Amino acid sequence: MFDESNATHYAIPTHVHEADHPPSGEPPFYLIVLDGGIPGSMLRIGPNGVRLGRAHDNTHSLPEASISRYHALVELGRDGTPRVVDLGSTNGTFLNGRRIAEDTPTRIKDGDRIRLGNQAVLKFVVLEPIEERFQRDLFERAVRDGLTQLHNRSYFITQSRTLASHSARRGLGFALLLLDIDYFKRINDTLGHDGGDEVLRQVAQTLREHTRSDDLVARYGGEEFVIALPVHAPDLATERAERIRQAIVDREIFVGHNHVNVTASVGVAYSPSDRPREIDALVSAADRCLYTAKNLGRNCVVFRNDTGPPAELFVETKSVDL
Ligand code: GH3
Ligand code: MG
Ligand code: MG
Repeated sequence: MFDESNATHYAIPTHVHEADHPPSGEPPFYLIVLDGGIPGSMLRIGPNGVRLGRAHDNTHSLPEASISRYHALVELGRDGTPRVVDLGSTNGTFLNGRRIAEDTPTRIKDGDRIRLGNQAVLKFVVLEPIEERFQRDLFERAVRDGLTQLHNRSYFITQSRTLASHSARRGLGFALLLLDIDYFKRINDTLGHDGGDEVLRQVAQTLREHTRSDDLVARYGGEEFVIALPVHAPDLATERAERIRQAIVDREIFVGHNHVNVTASVGVAYSPSDRPREIDALVSAADRCLYTAKNLGRNCVVFRNDTGPPAELFVETKSVDL
């Protein structure tokens, strides 16, 4: 039976990184998510195994209703053979379509499909380094924006739901920032499309430098970016937004020899931990604030506290002449 005290802490990143190549001596065993969570994400099966379930302290948390809090474990037996164990789940663990007995390790082999409950399907694979790189590249291309290398919108939407529920359990609220570069069309008109692309890359780099590993940053589309922040209170969210806005103003952006003054407007929405709001509602609320920020003259942060009546509007920064 799985030892609870050894539970690996839940981590937001669900895919393998460079450092996740197996150390020498460890087998190149992986689970690839086919359905549920983020399809294509990879989990390496290390010496402690991979525990799957709805609870946040699993190695991989799957927030699906038909999945038990601690659902299944994929581990290595004493002789190193990979096996799956159902941890007494309500809706069962299925190996290639057949339900396995609970608490009984069942051997698995390359290509086997493991289904948890009705939703999540994972494939067990043995990947040589070249295949592992290929698989990882495919995944990275699916979840990242090619120009800025930030995550893309669809990855953001899926992961922000996980991040929001994770934050709520830690008693943290969740802020969503929509950031749009001001007068970007002019930048394109003056410097050309390639110049505009360079500005997008540098703004993306500024966002990376001014966010934390717990935050989620993505290119939402065009010259618009989205950031999710786990924070205790809305004023902390607007403070962070303000620092990001200022960092863009302060960054010396050059395209060739041309120095470009770049500013951005930011709309902020907040979801308190005790009354969580849907991501779609947060995006709409942040978008309305962004619209207000543009109307107020741009280069400012706007937050409307619409989590409860009466609605209040905060403008964090006075807009400056452009
Ligand atoms: P505002 O201050 O109101 O946001 O004005 P704006 O000029 O920034 O906004 P608008 O929506 O009018 O123009 C956005 C421009 O961004 C139009 C589009 O051609 C350009 N754009 C979208 N995606 C890219 C891209 O990937 N690269 C480049 N260079 N330009 C892009
Ligand atoms: Mg725009
Ligand atoms: Mg714009």
